[in-house]
Amino acid sequence: MTTAIDDLPVFSAIKPTEVEGNLRTLLDANRAELERLLTANSASWDALIVPLEEMQHRLSRTWSPVGHMNGVVNSDELRAAYNACLPLLSAWNTDLAQNQRLYQAYETVLKNEGARLTAGQRKLVENALRDFRLAGVALPPDKKQRYKALVEQLATLQSKFDENVLDATNAWSRHITDTAEIEGLPAPIIERARVAAQAKQLEGWLFTLDAPNYQAVLMHAVNETLRREFYHGWVTRASEEDGNGGRWDNSALMDQILAVRDEVASVVGYPNYAEYSLATKMASSVAEVRAFLEQLAAKSRAVAHQEFAELTRFAGRELNAWDVGFYAEKLKRERFDLSEEALRPYFPLPRVLNGMFCVAEKLYGVQIVERTGVDSYHPDVQFYDILDADGSRRGSFFVDLYARGKKRGGAWMDECVGRKRLGGATSLPVAYLVCNFMPPVGSQPSLLTHSEVVTMFHEFGHGLHHMLTRVDYPSIAGINGVAWDAVELPSQFMENFAWRAEVIPLISAHVETGAPLPEAELQRLLGTRTFQAGMQTVRQLEFALFDLRIHSEFEAAAGSKIMQTLSEVRSQVSVIKPPAFNRFAHSFQHIFSGGYAAGYYSYKWAEVLAADAFSAFEEGGIFNSAVSSRFLTAILEQGGSRDAMEAFVEFRGRKPQIEPLLKQLGLAA
Ligand SMILES: [Zn+2]
Repeated sequence: MTTAIDDLPVFSAIKPTEVEGNLRTLLDANRAELERLLTANSASWDALIVPLEEMQHRLSRTWSPVGHMNGVVNSDELRAAYNACLPLLSAWNTDLAQNQRLYQAYETVLKNEGARLTAGQRKLVENALRDFRLAGVALPPDKKQRYKALVEQLATLQSKFDENVLDATNAWSRHITDTAEIEGLPAPIIERARVAAQAKQLEGWLFTLDAPNYQAVLMHAVNETLRREFYHGWVTRASEEDGNGGRWDNSALMDQILAVRDEVASVVGYPNYAEYSLATKMASSVAEVRAFLEQLAAKSRAVAHQEFAELTRFAGRELNAWDVGFYAEKLKRERFDLSEEALRPYFPLPRVLNGMFCVAEKLYGVQIVERTGVDSYHPDVQFYDILDADGSRRGSFFVDLYARGKKRGGAWMDECVGRKRLGGATSLPVAYLVCNFMPPVGSQPSLLTHSEVVTMFHEFGHGLHHMLTRVDYPSIAGINGVAWDAVELPSQFMENFAWRAEVIPLISAHVETGAPLPEAELQRLLGTRTFQAGMQTVRQLEFALFDLRIHSEFEAAAGSKIMQTLSEVRSQVSVIKPPAFNRFAHSFQHIFSGGYAAGYYSYKWAEVLAADAFSAFEEGGIFNSAVSSRFLTAILEQGGSRDAMEAFVEFRGRKPQIEPLLKQLGLAA
């Protein structure tokens, strides 16, 4: 049944053939209304900015379900429609951002009403003025035109990058009939592969290349050849090495993406894309970010080397990149007498969700209840409402948690509906929470590893940021308008709860017996948190430095030097030596097609904020209501309505410090 009372998207009514036409109609209407507003010459908050917020809200409402479905139930028809829309959207955004009259109207609002506006309203106007400048509003017409063309081109290139990764991933599979080859693999992974083989009338097992399969093989397959094959498959996706004859090779696209970004930056007067990207972030310059990353590298590299030497000793052989996960898992099992896989039965997904909701209820006084009968695009999807203490609805979310074909890998939260209260009906925030966990097999629910549980908490943290906002203006509500390097604060903050002895009993119970995780295993699990934290840290630093350097050192004449930079960064910080065929960058969607370009450092940056924020909870008790309500009101509810540093200082009483993170990772001296 389809419900319309909340104005949720009606996914089942979205027809690829109508997507482009509907968007064109909406954009035409927006353009006409914008012209009316500017002609009326009424540059005031109420007469100009409120209708513009409405307009953008309407557009996001229309586009969000299309973009979402393209990511999670991709099809040739939808992909074509989606791609046809990207240049239209990009053109609209640029037209808006480069509109000189609109820019002046915002300046007038600030000049005439600045003193009367609330701090949030003023922030909205100041953000808009900054973005006008970043889009080259004051440039001569030919340069403005060039900027617009570049941004459109970039949207198309990035989309193509994603398609190549998806297609190359889908094209890979491994059919196995010899039991010896799958030795060590967890039973649910084997069962899933058996079902996949059966569906194709094949003997034995058929493995696709999704994250659960890839991780399971790299961690558990005793057969080194199989590990190497999966590793090769994964790290060569969408490259000239992937065995598809270059059909989905991203090499040229990556060069083009960097070249276009570099030109975008230079057209509006920045020395490179990284500096341009930092103009909207909490960090102030490439030099500051680089110093931050190198400081962390200095703190973690020696530890990472010790860990790797220890692992090599343990394995009693030289380790290839595809051996590290396997021996690390073995060492971890030996040291902690604990296997991630063996704990799966203690983390059935329904129990994890309930317990996680319970944590949010304890922290923020909300209540989370499932609602059935909501229109959806796939039977796996569930829907929940978040209610305030008085029973009124605060927000809602879709969850779509299982891996399947035609669904983008990874985990993420995205906006379905943004919060808006501009007079007239209030629209409450709705989120999508997406993961790629192993689907239920038969009557057994999906069973998670603890690290998947941590992923779930992470995305839910983003979700709470989006859904608990009290901000009324869509462009600064929830995660909107939040500096990108502060956006991972609520998500990484939330991860901490999945690592607490007070919380684990809430999120775990044996799938068959309902028994709690035994105390000894609980303690061992908690002990694993800092296991190889040095190696994990340098890995993140490798990604972050690579990203920062390719976006700050690009020179048109010299080309992008992607592989060269990657290998320089690796020799600077990494401890694992990857094989020559490694083309990891070719599927690095975060920075080539996602929003993390010149922003991958944000994870570490925000991890400092998150660990420091959580240390306040550790001081006062993790469910201390004074601390949690301060976090709620100073950070979660504020969205982008205030400066990230200011909000942090209000919550913590001082600026962020790096020590709590080092302590959390076991890297403190
Ligand atoms: Zn995140």
